[in-house]
Amino acid sequence: MKTANKTVTAERLVRDALEKAKHFADYNIFTFINEEGALEKAREIDAKIARGEKVGRLAGVPYALKDNFLSPKGEATASAHILEGFTSPITATAVKKLEDEGAIMIGRTNMDAFAHGSSTESSYFGPTLNSHNKERVAGGSSGGSAVAVALDIVEFATGTDTGGSIRQPASFNGVYGLKPTYGTISRYGVVAMASSTDCIGFFTKTPDDMDLLMEIASGQDPKDLTTLPDYYNNNPGTESDDSCAKIGIIKDFDNESVHPGIRQALKNKVELLKSKGHEVVELEMPTLKYALAAYYIIVPAEIASNLSRYDGVRYGFRSEKSENLEALYKNTRSEGFMPENKRRIMIGNFVLSSGFYDAYFLKAAKARTLIVKEYEKAFRECDFILTPVSPNPAFKLGEKVNDPVAMYLEDLMSVSLNLAGVPGLAIPAGETKEGLPLGLQLVGPRRSDKSLIKFSKELA
Ligand code: GLN
Repeated sequence: MKTANKTVTAERLVRDALEKAKHFADYNIFTFINEEGALEKAREIDAKIARGEKVGRLAGVPYALKDNFLSPKGEATASAHILEGFTSPITATAVKKLEDEGAIMIGRTNMDAFAHGSSTESSYFGPTLNSHNKERVAGGSSGGSAVAVALDIVEFATGTDTGGSIRQPASFNGVYGLKPTYGTISRYGVVAMASSTDCIGFFTKTPDDMDLLMEIASGQDPKDLTTLPDYYNNNPGTESDDSCAKIGIIKDFDNESVHPGIRQALKNKVELLKSKGHEVVELEMPTLKYALAAYYIIVPAEIASNLSRYDGVRYGFRSEKSENLEALYKNTRSEGFMPENKRRIMIGNFVLSSGFYDAYFLKAAKARTLIVKEYEKAFRECDFILTPVSPNPAFKLGEKVNDPVAMYLEDLMSVSLNLAGVPGLAIPAGETKEGLPLGLQLVGPRRSDKSLIKFSKELA
C-alpha cells in the first residue's frame, strides 16, 4: 500500500485518486465524491509528517467506501431512494478503525439498493459498468467498490458480503475480495441486510494489502455482540504449514452449466497447486445444492425485519402526498424501495407468516445447520477448498435484471459460505477469450482467514 511520506504527500495521493475518479465518471462508480473532506484530511496528515509526528499504517491512502457504511461524510443511502437525504450522525466501527490509521475516503460507491442483487443494476442511481467491458455488469452488490479498485482509482475499497456481494464483483473485475469469517469485523454502523450472514470485507489488488486491512479492521466490538475475540492478530496457531496443503475441489460444481472458461481456470489452478507439491482431493458436498433455496428464504426473512424501520419518519426520503400516518408509511415505502427490495420484503414476510413458517423458514434453518456440518466435515478432509465464485463471468447489462430467478442462480456457489459463516477469498484467475476477468474462491474453516490470505499467494 502506497502511504504518504515527505516526498509523496497525502495531498498528492488524494488529488491523483480524485482525478482518476473524475476521469472514469462514465462508469457510474461513485454516489458521492468527498473532495473537500479528503483534501482537508490529507493536509492534516501532511502537516503531521512535516512535524515528524507518528502517522498511521494507512497514512494518506485514498479509499472508496461502499454506500451502506455510515459516516457523517456524504449521504449514506445504501443506493436506495428511501435513504436519500440521510446523513448519519454515527461512524461505523470499521470506518473509524481505517481512518484512525490515516486512510482517506474519497467517495461512496454505488451498489444494488440495500445490497439486494448481483449486478448493481438495482441501484437507485443506475448501474455501474464493468471495468473490462462497458456493456457488462460490474457484479454486485458492491459493484462500485470492485470497479474503483480494478480501475486503479483507489488501492482498496470496503464491501459487504451477505451472499457473495464482495466475492462476485471482485471476480467480475479481476481483483481480490474477502468475505471474512462471520463476526471478524464489526457490523456496527453498516446498513443491515440479513444480520445473521452480513459480513464486512475488502477489495484489494494484493493478498498483502488484504492482510494489512484485516489486521486493522478486525476485532471484538462492544457495539456488535456477534463480533469474535480478535483471533486475527492474536492467534498464530491458525497459521497452517503451507509447504504441503490439502485442497478440496467440489465435484458438483464442475458441470456443463458452469462457463468453460471458469472450469478451465479451476483446472489450471489445480495443476499449479499440484506442481507446487500440494495435494488435491475431490469432495462430496451434496447438501450444498440446498444452499441457494435456504438462502433465499432465510435472507429475505431477515430483510423483511431489518427494512421495517424505514417508515418515512426517521430516515431520509418521505412521500409528500400522504394525508395520514398510515398513508405516509405506505406511500414512502412504495415510492422509496426498488422492486427487488419489495420482492424480498414480500417473500420474507410470507415465509415467516403463521401457517408457512414451519414449511419454509424452519425447514431452511434446518438445511442451514446441515450446511454448517457439511463444511465442518469437509475441513476434516482438507485445509482449504477451491471453487468458482459464480457459474459465469460478467453478464450483459440488462440480461438478467428482469428475471429474478436467473439473477438468484448467479449466487449458486457463493451463498453457502455465508450460511456456514466460513471465510472465502475471491482471487483473480485469468480471463476469458473475450477479455473478461475470471475468479475463483479459496474457502477455509472459521477463523482461518489469516492463513487463507497467506495461502492465496500459492495461487498467484
Ligand atoms: N446477490 C446476493 C443477494 O442478492 C448477495 C447480496 C449480498 O451479498 N449483499 O442476496
